Amino acid sequence: MIDRGPYRGRFAPSPTGPLHAGSLVSALASFLDARAHGGSWIVRIEDVDAPRTVPGAADEILATLAHFGMHSDEPPVWQSERDAAYSAAFVRLQAAGFVYPCGCTRREIADSLVHAHARHATLAYPGTCRDGLHGKPARAWRLRVPDGDAAVVTFDDRWQGVQTQDLATEVGDFALKRADGLWAYQLAVVVDDADAGITHVVRGADLLDSTARQIYLQQCLEAPTPAYLHVPVINNDAGEKLSKQTGAAPLDRHAPLDALVQAARHLGIAVSSPAASLDTFYGAATAEWAKRFPR
Ligand code: GLU
Repeated sequence: MIDRGPYRGRFAPSPTGPLHAGSLVSALASFLDARAHGGSWIVRIEDVDAPRTVPGAADEILATLAHFGMHSDEPPVWQSERDAAYSAAFVRLQAAGFVYPCGCTRREIADSLVHAHARHATLAYPGTCRDGLHGKPARAWRLRVPDGDAAVVTFDDRWQGVQTQDLATEVGDFALKRADGLWAYQLAVVVDDADAGITHVVRGADLLDSTARQIYLQQCLEAPTPAYLHVPVINNDAGEKLSKQTGAAPLDRHAPLDALVQAARHLGIAVSSPAASLDTFYGAATAEWAKRFPR
């Protein structure tokens, strides 16, 4: 393994389908940032959400990344193999009094939110089960967020600038373990990033809204907070984020350069098109990225 210095970045696709132009943008941005900083780039397969996982999609994603010249510097991490780590973090949070069981159904939460909305309140989980289950069986497990000023999380995103979210009013106590028994994305991501020593998170701006939750969870677990950079997502003609659900076409494995040049363009990186080879593409794109994001 090459020692690539202290920077550790990652690309964390959910294997719900093949890579498409939208996920390529996140993959490329995270890869260029790692290379521009002389760091390591690690792929993590986010298959914690088993019902959404499509058999074979993870291997297909890894094969496509390889065709596109992006190879994980360490063996890919699979969330489906990390149950013990999530459990241990959950037990720690529970022992510290941060976690409580919630017996609300989706329907009950939606109803109470509609009610709250009518009173011009915000759409955060209203904390119904904070003080007990009211005779209902436990379904999910939630992290108690602080009240007042302590709930305000601020971070300086390297692309998007300073971001602020009030966890109490904008999010509410959020699930760590879901009603279907699965670990929630927020818990898995924070534990994975901490265990892998990730110093820089580069991903799509659709996840900007999750970042304050993740930073708060890092604080509860006494884990370091990485630097964040959220790249603009690609929308389809209807203005929806490009995804498998909105009909994004899989990437053509055999024409990587065109797709890479386009993804780079979306990131504001001008690479003369057509680049002669993957090597010349990555050389030029990394140099451009390094100029733009020197820190
Ligand atoms: N698995 C998430 C996705 O594919 C990305 C999570 C992350 O980068 O933190 O949207």
